Amino acid sequence: MDKKNHKIERECLKCGTIQSLTVTKKEAAFDLIDYDRVLGVKCPKCFNKQFSITFQNVTLDLDILKEWSLDSELYLQEQDEELLLADELYLDIVLKTLDTHKILDHKRNILLEALCIIVYDNTIKENPKRDEDLKNRVIFELNTRIEQLRLADDWVMDYIKEVVYPQLNTM
Ligand SMILES: [Zn+2]
Repeated sequence: MDKKNHKIERECLKCGTIQSLTVTKKEAAFDLIDYDRVLGVKCPKCFNKQFSITFQNVTLDLDILKEWSLDSELYLQEQDEELLLADELYLDIVLKTLDTHKILDHKRNILLEALCIIVYDNTIKENPKRDEDLKNRVIFELNTRIEQLRLADDWVMDYIKEVVYPQLNTM
Protein backbone atom coordinates (compact mmCIF):
# COMPACT_ATOMS: atom_id res chain seq x y z
CA MET A 1 0.00 0.00 0.00
CA ASP A 2 2.80 2.42 0.79
CA LYS A 3 5.00 1.44 -2.10
CA LYS A 4 5.83 4.34 -4.33
CA ASN A 5 4.97 2.83 -7.67
CA HIS A 6 2.65 5.33 -9.31
CA LYS A 7 4.15 7.72 -11.76
CA ILE A 8 3.17 11.35 -12.13
CA GLU A 9 4.67 13.61 -14.79
CA ARG A 10 4.70 17.36 -14.89
CA GLU A 11 5.35 18.92 -18.26
CA CYS A 12 6.35 22.53 -18.75
CA LEU A 13 3.85 24.13 -21.15
CA LYS A 14 6.52 26.43 -22.57
CA CYS A 15 9.62 24.31 -23.22
CA GLY A 16 8.26 20.78 -22.78
CA THR A 17 10.64 19.75 -20.01
CA ILE A 18 9.19 16.78 -18.16
CA GLN A 19 9.75 16.19 -14.47
CA SER A 20 8.50 12.94 -13.05
CA LEU A 21 8.05 11.52 -9.62
CA THR A 22 6.76 8.30 -8.16
CA VAL A 23 4.18 8.35 -5.40
CA THR A 24 2.10 5.90 -3.41
CA LYS A 25 -1.26 4.66 -4.61
CA LYS A 26 -2.97 6.75 -1.96
CA GLU A 27 -1.09 9.90 -2.97
CA ALA A 28 -2.04 9.31 -6.60
CA ALA A 29 -5.67 8.32 -5.93
CA PHE A 30 -6.34 11.42 -3.84
CA ASP A 31 -3.92 13.74 -5.66
CA LEU A 32 -2.16 14.57 -2.40
CA ILE A 33 1.07 15.88 -3.87
CA ASP A 34 2.06 19.51 -3.50
CA TYR A 35 3.90 19.81 -6.81
CA ASP A 36 5.30 23.27 -6.15
CA ARG A 37 6.90 22.02 -2.97
CA VAL A 38 8.19 18.75 -4.41
CA LEU A 39 9.26 19.89 -7.88
CA GLY A 40 9.66 23.62 -7.41
CA VAL A 41 7.40 26.47 -8.50
CA LYS A 42 9.24 27.06 -11.78
CA CYS A 43 10.45 24.89 -14.65
CA PRO A 44 14.13 24.09 -13.94
CA LYS A 45 15.05 24.89 -17.54
CA CYS A 46 13.03 27.94 -18.62
CA PHE A 47 11.52 29.13 -15.31
CA ASN A 48 7.98 29.09 -16.70
CA LYS A 49 5.27 28.47 -14.11
CA GLN A 50 2.60 26.76 -16.22
CA PHE A 51 2.48 22.99 -16.31
CA SER A 52 0.27 20.09 -17.24
CA ILE A 53 0.12 17.11 -14.93
CA THR A 54 -0.30 13.55 -16.17
CA PHE A 55 -1.31 10.75 -13.84
CA GLN A 56 -0.95 7.10 -14.40
CA ASN A 57 -4.44 5.68 -13.92
CA VAL A 58 -5.02 4.42 -10.42
CA THR A 59 -7.17 1.35 -9.92
CA LEU A 60 -9.11 1.90 -6.74
CA ASP A 61 -9.28 -0.81 -4.11
CA LEU A 62 -11.32 -1.38 -0.98
CA ASP A 63 -8.72 0.22 1.33
CA ILE A 64 -8.63 3.37 -0.75
CA LEU A 65 -12.41 3.57 -1.02
CA LYS A 66 -12.84 2.91 2.70
CA GLU A 67 -10.46 5.70 3.55
CA TRP A 68 -12.22 8.05 1.15
CA SER A 69 -15.64 7.16 2.58
CA LEU A 70 -14.60 8.16 6.10
CA ASP A 71 -12.74 11.38 5.37
CA SER A 72 -14.46 14.50 4.05
CA GLU A 73 -11.09 15.99 3.07
CA LEU A 74 -10.25 13.25 0.57
CA TYR A 75 -11.28 13.53 -3.06
CA LEU A 76 -10.73 11.05 -5.82
CA GLN A 77 -8.60 12.29 -8.70
CA GLU A 78 -11.49 12.85 -11.04
CA GLN A 79 -13.75 15.82 -10.55
CA ASP A 80 -16.91 13.77 -10.97
CA GLU A 81 -16.32 11.11 -8.37
CA GLU A 82 -19.65 9.42 -9.03
CA LEU A 83 -18.78 9.00 -12.72
CA LEU A 84 -15.43 7.45 -11.86
CA LEU A 85 -17.13 5.03 -9.47
CA ALA A 86 -19.96 4.14 -11.88
CA ASP A 87 -17.93 1.30 -13.30
CA GLU A 88 -18.54 -2.42 -13.15
CA LEU A 89 -14.89 -2.75 -12.12
CA TYR A 90 -15.70 -1.03 -8.82
CA LEU A 91 -19.16 -2.46 -8.17
CA ASP A 92 -18.04 -4.93 -5.51
CA ILE A 93 -16.00 -2.46 -3.49
CA VAL A 94 -18.74 0.18 -3.76
CA LEU A 95 -21.27 -2.30 -2.33
CA LYS A 96 -18.88 -3.45 0.39
CA THR A 97 -18.18 0.12 1.41
CA LEU A 98 -21.90 0.93 1.52
CA ASP A 99 -22.61 -2.08 3.71
CA THR A 100 -19.73 -2.53 6.08
CA HIS A 101 -18.60 0.90 7.17
CA LYS A 102 -20.03 3.81 9.03
CA ILE A 103 -19.41 6.13 6.16
CA LEU A 104 -20.05 9.84 5.77
CA ASP A 105 -23.53 10.75 4.48
CA HIS A 106 -22.10 12.72 1.61
CA LYS A 107 -19.91 9.83 0.50
CA ARG A 108 -22.81 7.40 0.78
CA ASN A 109 -24.83 9.67 -1.51
CA ILE A 110 -22.03 9.64 -4.07
CA LEU A 111 -21.84 5.84 -3.98
CA LEU A 112 -25.60 5.53 -4.44
CA GLU A 113 -25.56 7.96 -7.32
CA ALA A 114 -22.78 5.90 -8.89
CA LEU A 115 -25.04 2.83 -8.70
CA CYS A 116 -27.89 4.81 -10.30
CA ILE A 117 -25.55 5.91 -13.09
CA ILE A 118 -24.65 2.28 -13.85
CA VAL A 119 -28.36 1.51 -14.23
CA TYR A 120 -28.83 4.62 -16.34
CA ASP A 121 -25.87 3.85 -18.62
CA ASN A 122 -27.08 0.31 -19.17
CA THR A 123 -30.67 1.34 -19.88
CA ILE A 124 -30.38 4.14 -22.42
CA LYS A 125 -30.53 3.16 -26.07
CA GLU A 126 -27.70 5.57 -26.89
CA ASN A 127 -25.29 3.10 -25.29
CA PRO A 128 -24.71 0.28 -27.79
CA LYS A 129 -22.76 -1.71 -25.22
CA ARG A 130 -25.45 -1.74 -22.54
CA ASP A 131 -25.33 -4.81 -20.37
CA GLU A 132 -28.70 -6.17 -19.25
CA ASP A 133 -27.22 -8.51 -16.63
CA LEU A 134 -25.18 -5.76 -15.05
CA LYS A 135 -28.21 -3.44 -15.03
CA ASN A 136 -30.40 -6.07 -13.37
CA ARG A 137 -27.77 -6.84 -10.77
CA VAL A 138 -27.44 -3.18 -9.80
CA ILE A 139 -31.24 -2.74 -9.74
CA PHE A 140 -31.35 -5.66 -7.31
CA GLU A 141 -28.66 -4.06 -5.15
CA LEU A 142 -30.47 -0.71 -5.18
CA ASN A 143 -33.74 -2.38 -4.21
CA THR A 144 -32.09 -3.85 -1.14
CA ARG A 145 -30.84 -0.36 -0.18
CA ILE A 146 -33.96 1.65 -0.93
CA GLU A 147 -33.87 3.46 2.44
CA GLN A 148 -30.32 4.63 1.77
CA LEU A 149 -31.36 5.73 -1.69
CA ARG A 150 -34.26 7.78 -0.31
CA LEU A 151 -31.77 9.65 1.86
CA ALA A 152 -29.66 10.34 -1.23
CA ASP A 153 -32.65 11.51 -3.28
CA ASP A 154 -31.67 15.20 -3.35
CA TRP A 155 -28.25 14.25 -4.56
CA VAL A 156 -29.23 12.18 -7.60
CA MET A 157 -29.59 14.15 -10.82
CA ASP A 158 -33.15 14.41 -12.20
CA TYR A 159 -32.36 12.95 -15.63
CA ILE A 160 -30.87 9.91 -13.89
CA LYS A 161 -33.92 9.53 -11.63
CA GLU A 162 -36.32 9.65 -14.58
CA VAL A 163 -34.68 6.61 -16.12
CA VAL A 164 -33.75 4.67 -12.99
CA TYR A 165 -36.54 5.14 -10.43
CA PRO A 166 -39.34 3.58 -12.52
CA GLN A 167 -37.25 0.40 -12.68
CA LEU A 168 -36.96 0.13 -8.90
CA ASN A 169 -39.52 -1.49 -6.57
CA THR A 170 -40.76 1.31 -4.40
CA MET A 171 -39.27 4.70 -5.10
ZN1 LIG B 1 10.20 25.01 -19.25
